[in-house]
Amino acid sequence: MKPHGPIPPGFAADADGMLLIGGRRADELTDMAGDTPLFVYDGAMLTARVAVWREAMPAEVQLHYAMKANPYAPLLAHMAALVDGLDVASGGELAIALGSGMAAAHISFAGPGKRDRELEAAIGAGATLNLESGGEAERALAIGARLGIAPRLAVRVNPDFDLKGSGMKMGGGAKPFGVDAAEVPALVRRLLDAGADWQGFHIFAGSQALDAAAIADTQAQTVALAARLANEIGATPPLVNLGGGMGVPYFPGDTAVDVAAVGAALGETLAARDPVLGSSSFAMELGRWLVAEAGVYLTRVVDRKTSHGETFLVTDGGLHHQLAASGNFGTVIRRNYPIAVANRFRAEPVETVSVVGCLCTPLDRLGDQVALPRGDVGDLVAIFQAGAYGATASPSAFLGQGPAGEMLV
Ligand SMILES: *Cc1c(COP(=O)(O)O)cnc(C)c1O
Repeated sequence: MKPHGPIPPGFAADADGMLLIGGRRADELTDMAGDTPLFVYDGAMLTARVAVWREAMPAEVQLHYAMKANPYAPLLAHMAALVDGLDVASGGELAIALGSGMAAAHISFAGPGKRDRELEAAIGAGATLNLESGGEAERALAIGARLGIAPRLAVRVNPDFDLKGSGMKMGGGAKPFGVDAAEVPALVRRLLDAGADWQGFHIFAGSQALDAAAIADTQAQTVALAARLANEIGATPPLVNLGGGMGVPYFPGDTAVDVAAVGAALGETLAARDPVLGSSSFAMELGRWLVAEAGVYLTRVVDRKTSHGETFLVTDGGLHHQLAASGNFGTVIRRNYPIAVANRFRAEPVETVSVVGCLCTPLDRLGDQVALPRGDVGDLVAIFQAGAYGATASPSAFLGQGPAGEMLV
């Protein structure tokens, strides 16, 4: 038997033992959708999550949602009404964000390799570009001049440090992201001289960290770096986007981020900041921390079989919707996501099984030798922490299986 990640708090079953999501029975939801697999997102959990963040953080810090975690239109509209800004990473996401109800002035566009037509769409709409290089800055300035618009430009800084313990390092050393810190002052002066509407800094050091002290330490370094750059430039950045990095417990032994501790430390950091940042605004941009926990992936057992003494539950889902849960999205060692038999949610485990998907590849494993209640053909298996990097971060066209259903309740 191998352990699985912790089932997120807040999920319960009805008297029949059926998992409830947003107060609705899992089987009722799949009936309503007409098919499995199905992603269900709990709107009340999303709302509560934002409230937890706001309660913990200093009031002056804005909350941005990094929509690449989950761009499902109903979920995005729900989030857009709760957060202060959206961060997008492509022209496609920009178009969706502009339709979400969020004002363009609160949309920022980061990411390497922005094409001229994407820069033009952002500048034309009045969104902010987080510039990833000097070359991109020149192209943005030229497009702004051609359109007769002072482009809203921020500089993404490649910091000299990374976020300790983060699952994905986005800063420190040679990176395709951002402008090396040493080159930032000259670039910002160039933007100011060219008449651009300079928006400040974007400094994103890493992702999926659970250790509050490491996050707080990175935020303190980020604020110090912003101050150093601002002093060198001789101008106050209107906004310092501190990045995000708060992760969620996917795996056995993982524990949730102590958000109150992060907020308290950030309050102290901001209270003690260099006067050059006195009138700056601050933001954090979060993806998975905001939306992962509110999502459940429901898949149905199609076959139950035994091979060399190992029991397999073969489902109609798989890595084409849950690449991360299969262990093939940026993890070195495959570990089990939180998993349950949805219709026996309250039952004790009675057997060790491997839950696999319907794709003809050995990579397609959703639960490896996990202890579960009995699972039979027709039962529903639930994978948790499915609200982020699920549907759109998985190869849904692989093997012709097609996308899963999605539903916000
Ligand atoms: C992906 C990304 C995020 C979101 O990361 P999470 O780990 O989902 O919070 C935030 N900012 C930038 C620049 C990103 O690329």
